[in-house]
Amino acid sequence: MLQFDKLSLNIPDTAKPRVVIIGGGFGGMNLAKSLKDKDVQVVLFDKQNYNGFWPLLYQVATAGLEPDAIAEPFRKMFDGHTDFHYRMVRVNKIDPATKTVTTLIGDLHYDYLVIATGSKSNFFGNEQIQKYSFPLKTIPEALNVRSQFLQCFEQASVTTDSAERQSLLTFVIAGAGPTGVEMAGSLAEMRKHVLPNDYPGLDFSEMKIYIVEGLGKVLPPMSDEAGQKAQRYLEDLGVVVKLNTLVESYDGETVTFKGGEQIKTQTLVWGAGVTGALIEGIPAESIEKGRILVDPINRIQGMTDVFAIGDIAFMKLEKYPKGHPGVAQPAIQQGVHLAKNLRRLMKNEPTEPFEYFDKGSLAIVGRSRAVADLPGNVHLGGFIAWMAWLFVHIWYLVGFRSKLIVFSNWIYRLFTYQRGTRIIIRPFVRKDDKVGQEIMLKNEMS
Ligand SMILES: Cc1cc2nc3c(=O)[nH]c(=O)nc-3n(C[C@H](O)[C@H](O)[C@H](O)COP(=O)(O)OP(=O)(O)OC[C@H]3O[C@@H](n4cnc5c(N)ncnc54)[C@H](O)[C@@H]3O)c2cc1C
Repeated sequence: MLQFDKLSLNIPDTAKPRVVIIGGGFGGMNLAKSLKDKDVQVVLFDKQNYNGFWPLLYQVATAGLEPDAIAEPFRKMFDGHTDFHYRMVRVNKIDPATKTVTTLIGDLHYDYLVIATGSKSNFFGNEQIQKYSFPLKTIPEALNVRSQFLQCFEQASVTTDSAERQSLLTFVIAGAGPTGVEMAGSLAEMRKHVLPNDYPGLDFSEMKIYIVEGLGKVLPPMSDEAGQKAQRYLEDLGVVVKLNTLVESYDGETVTFKGGEQIKTQTLVWGAGVTGALIEGIPAESIEKGRILVDPINRIQGMTDVFAIGDIAFMKLEKYPKGHPGVAQPAIQQGVHLAKNLRRLMKNEPTEPFEYFDKGSLAIVGRSRAVADLPGNVHLGGFIAWMAWLFVHIWYLVGFRSKLIVFSNWIYRLFTYQRGTRIIIRPFVRKDDKVGQEIMLKNEMS
């Protein structure tokens, strides 16, 4: 048994400047890679032992990919880096006065600290929604969603109660951003190509998929053209799109919208908002709208050697008054750029401000149905955008093995319309669902 008083971060002392990075996502990973073998010690803390490729998380949730296809372990990723140290631990607090970070198993002094903790689901203070809905930000959450979907079909195929069956076959996705749209499209394709074969006893005309959005368009971060096209693609696939609709409550059985309309469902997927994954110790005046205010070199306002990059960073510029979009590219580019600036700071050279190069955005609804906004006000849809989406996602996946798995998986699906991962590895049962717990226990008894 591990004993706390016997644990230590075990990072070697060094005469080199020590850069501590909290979070090895798109931002932190690119920063650490860009500091490779420079004259610095790099310490990476992340509460999970892998870098996740979140744009494909919905495919794990909809039985399209296994989790290991979209995740690369840090220990493998940084194999061969000298004076690089990774520890799987959550950072709880920072103390800029003593230049230390505090974790469950000890403190560590830093010379330069970079916060790259990304964002987390935002339930806007609604504890009931937080308790009963299914967020989609991490691999365990995606596996919960996958289990829930598959369990709903299994249960629907054995219930004799038609109201219960209808509720099991109804799926509501809150938030019509890229993740919500991709989830809804993917589920609709499963309904068309996969589920009728798996469950010949079920009538899939009973299966309903809703996507609800508080704003007036689908894909709010993208152009109107992209939003309209994506909405048309979703509707063609039989998804019910509800705009200007806010979820007010959800008790695990009924979603109630502002205005009173209700839908009975066992599954509400929550993709309706994110907020920064903040850490204790950052002054309140450096935080705005859940993100950390930074200057043009990503230095946290009011601090000297502490920086923030990626989703958590709020760099207010004339061109980006609301900060950079919360997507992978700003995080990647800030990570690479900050590495150069840290080198300059260490050599007392002048730093250079960060400039975001917008490569455009993409979202997929289904086979041959995708949308793309490209620089120069170019909007693409259909097959070309779909091909672009496939290419970009393979290109940016970390690690040759993941690229190969995802590519071969997609080729397989292209010809067979199948999804190979419809397996309930870890059944999902809510902690307060006594009947569900009992059934699971009895099923597991040998
Ligand atoms: C489901 C989903 C789909 C997405 N789809 C797209 C897309 O199609 N295109 C696109 O460009 N962007 C997409 N995004 C957004 C994109 O993934 C983020 O913008 C990007 O990950 C931000 O990078 P980051 O480095 O700031 O944070 P992340 O990549 O989220 O990394 C943060 C890391 O910090 C770690 N961490 C957090 N708190 C702590 C702590 N206290 N201690 C230790 N470690 C900690 C986490 O474990 C994580 O590894 C999607 C996001 C999600 C969730």
